[in-house]
Amino acid sequence: EQDVAEYRKSLAIRVSGFDVPKPIKAFEDCGFPPQIMNAIKKQGYEKPTSIQCQALPVVLSGRDIIGIAKTGSGKTAAFVLPMIVHIMDQPELQKEEGPIGVICAPTRELAHQIYLEAKKFAKAYGIRVSAVYGGMSKLEQFKELKAGCEIVVATPGRLIDMLKMKALTMTRATYLVLDEADRMFDLGFEPQVRSIVGQIRPDRQTLLFSATMPRKVEKLAREILTDPIRVTVGEVG
Ligand code: ADP
Ligand code: MG
Repeated sequence: EQDVAEYRKSLAIRVSGFDVPKPIKAFEDCGFPPQIMNAIKKQGYEKPTSIQCQALPVVLSGRDIIGIAKTGSGKTAAFVLPMIVHIMDQPELQKEEGPIGVICAPTRELAHQIYLEAKKFAKAYGIRVSAVYGGMSKLEQFKELKAGCEIVVATPGRLIDMLKMKALTMTRATYLVLDEADRMFDLGFEPQVRSIVGQIRPDRQTLLFSATMPRKVEKLAREILTDPIRVTVGEVG
């Protein structure tokens, strides 16, 4: 236990919540299948970043997480890698449709970056990733979603539009990520985010990432996460 505390300290990580899994030291400690390990190597990721060391074992264990770390700390892989595992763990869902993983991000640029990252790891498994954000034809997006996908990366406004158009259903969604939650609130997306969360089954796994935790975001986290583990990196939060 002393060792774990020392190791967290060396990573500049603080945690709270009960039964927090031990942070990992290497990607090999995650039990990832070979395809994921290959994709990690191909990315040139030699070892996990601080947030990844603690967030990966938390999320892989199925727990909800509040991840607080500044930009550039490697949060994307911390939610994308366990999402691939989560999707591969699903029993055959022949007739069911709609995404299993739903990621909300504040801007189209951020959503696009996450989309590209998710595609790199999803490809080896034939997992389909759709991007849903403004600036693209709604009709094209509608058609793409109708064709089916396992992961959707979206800005809140456009995802609401697509849900209203019945381009997708959330019945199969069990893994929800709110990325850059503070910026989504700054941009006025709180009502859209709440509406999306309300359309996803409550027994989902929920991940919330943010660079800061203003009171409004804290309140949302309390309302929508179940027994979350909080992981804070560095001085932020
Ligand atoms: P954040 O979402 O926290 O701002 P990103 O997920 O966008 O950070 O990652 C920032 C950069 O670090 C990206 O270029 C990403 O490819 C890179 N990166 C992520 N994880 C690792 C890692 N384990 N080793 C090296 N580079 C990494
Ligand atoms: Mg990010």
